[in-house]
Amino acid sequence: MEIEIEDYDIEIIMLAQYKHLDIILESSYCTECKKMSTITNYKPYLNKLNDIILRGFCLKCGGPVNRYIETGENIQSAAVAEHIKNVLQISRNKK
Ligand SMILES: [Zn+2]
Repeated sequence: MEIEIEDYDIEIIMLAQYKHLDIILESSYCTECKKMSTITNYKPYLNKLNDIILRGFCLKCGGPVNRYIETGENIQSAAVAEHIKNVLQISRNKK
């Protein structure tokens, strides 16, 4: 199950790794170009393993690009991600 998060959640979850976000965005594999490209116009999600998934588009060809950020491997990041998921699920169920 994936849950949509906000841009500011990425910073909170990535902690110190957030400073590398630009590099991560610029090293996204495009299956259309068959090489590394830059992901743009993405929406961030959290998966079951507390990894961030960015779903967006290739800057060069406009094709769909997904970029995984393995935040779930970091205990601190995973704890923050888990908390955000719980809060979002509670607030969204109220609507
Ligand atoms: Zn491309």
